[in-house]
Amino acid sequence: MSKQPDQITFSLPEWLAEYAGNYRTSIVLEEWMRFVIGAARKNIEECTGGPFAAAVFERETGKLVSLGVNLVVSRQSSVLHTEMVAIILAQQQLGTYDLGGTDMPAHELLSSAEPCAMCFGALPWSGVRYVVTGALSEDGRLIGFDEGAKPENWIQELESRGIEVRTSVERDQAREVLLLYQQTGGHIVQHEGELTLTFRLY
Ligand SMILES: [Zn+2]
Repeated sequence: MSKQPDQITFSLPEWLAEYAGNYRTSIVLEEWMRFVIGAARKNIEECTGGPFAAAVFERETGKLVSLGVNLVVSRQSSVLHTEMVAIILAQQQLGTYDLGGTDMPAHELLSSAEPCAMCFGALPWSGVRYVVTGALSEDGRLIGFDEGAKPENWIQELESRGIEVRTSVERDQAREVLLLYQQTGGHIVQHEGELTLTFRLY
């Protein structure tokens, strides 16, 4: 084989750090979600990825640990869903692979939409103790996103692993962002045997 790179790197959109820097610490769940949904919207407006954002917060203090956005198409990687990006960033930030360590404050992951099969699988390994989502799976499906082979009872599956789940927080705002993405055109990746780029208008 040809020589492969000796490290894995991916850059983040230039606007992301400034957006994260504008976060005003809060302990109100809906404010966290509106902040996350705003990042998903900005990711569309800036043409830096798909219409999804996720963030990790310290549950008790409301401190923002990381903010991620979907980077699949812009960074040419099928694993760079927003939850994965937020988890990678939080773990890098805190210097641990386990956000649920006994010496850690409890961490909560907010995502602008429900997790796909991959992110559902990654959540228990991340160490987050709480997961909160905005748009429902059916909102994503309506505009062509496929979550893959996620169990119907995914919430119970996560809860059986000690992760508390809440869905539909600020759902209307989150769904609006998905519709905006559809209206303005963008990449939608469908999983039907192989990755297919269905359309790109910008
Ligand atoms: Zn995912």
